[in-house]
Amino acid sequence: MWPEPPRSALRLAIDDDALRLNWQALDRLSGAASAAAAVKADGYGLGARRVVPVLQNAGCTSFLVAHWREAAQIADLVDPGNVSVLHGPLHRADADYAIASGFKPVINTLEQARLWNEAGGGICDVMVDTGINRLGLSLSDLADETLHTLSVDVLMSHLASADEDVPLNETQRLRWQEARAALPHRRSSLANSAGIMLGADFHGDITRPGLALYGGIPRDELVGKIRQVARPQAAIMQVRAIGAGDGVGYNSTFVAQKSMRVGTVALGYADGYLRCWSDNGFMQVDGKLLPVLGRVSMDMTVIDLSDARELDEGDWVEAQYSLPEASTQCGLSQYELLTVLGQRFAR
Ligand SMILES: *Cc1c(COP(=O)(O)O)cnc(C)c1O
Repeated sequence: MWPEPPRSALRLAIDDDALRLNWQALDRLSGAASAAAAVKADGYGLGARRVVPVLQNAGCTSFLVAHWREAAQIADLVDPGNVSVLHGPLHRADADYAIASGFKPVINTLEQARLWNEAGGGICDVMVDTGINRLGLSLSDLADETLHTLSVDVLMSHLASADEDVPLNETQRLRWQEARAALPHRRSSLANSAGIMLGADFHGDITRPGLALYGGIPRDELVGKIRQVARPQAAIMQVRAIGAGDGVGYNSTFVAQKSMRVGTVALGYADGYLRCWSDNGFMQVDGKLLPVLGRVSMDMTVIDLSDARELDEGDWVEAQYSLPEASTQCGLSQYELLTVLGQRFAR
């Protein structure tokens, strides 16, 4: 028996209340539609197994993942018939797996529709591409008789620019309406997080928020309605005094102008705290800001503790990671900021 490893010096604190309230706010903002939850990419980096039970407690019953293996990871937590697999069946083995497991494929191409029928078929969702030109059936495919043999639960499409006010939103909405008229289905869906704020005409029966569940704010209308959920926290491993002229980190991009007290924290770019935070980010404790000094290394980051004498080795600090502001500050999208967070965090 190997001994249990010690507690990690790195954790991703997840605020369950914020996650629950965010889903409930998005569900309310969805009006007559119900909000599902996108939990692909391991729950946007927070841990799908960590977020699914919290979302279920909030009232969410439908979930979306991209890959079949992502569905398998939450199989014991969910009703498989309420999990849509967005990539659909690329190979026969995917369709066989869908039938064996009960997960619902999203049919994106005529070939996928044929595969699904050959494997035995059953209830599925359908994705129609109305202008993002990424994955999904074209409007012109909808006359194909293969599609009319499917039992379609959710007929969905995906908005390319819901975070902006551009004519494409209305164009896509009209094409989605056309698709709804062309192919029999039980329920319809168009809006992601940002799309929910485009109004009731964009809601259909089910909305599909992802980002905003986890604290992302893709449109200003959501400011004040969405709370921060994920907080990267790490322990200070060493505290040292440095003097004027001393450099910090690789290539000494920070050089002290005076004597300083600095701390080395167990969080680095291998954890998703990327080099864009070098000489740019802040960590914080009780609202006190601790600037990042020098380059972020693979496994550690140095911060200024000059104004935080109370902090010592073994104490914890939190990276400033409020998504809209962090995105502006470092240039990564709010989606990237979440999904880069690595496997070393205790979640
Ligand atoms: C990822 C995804 C969503 C969620 O989008 P957000 O912008 O994160 O709210 C919804 N629908 C589809 C098809 C997706 O791929």
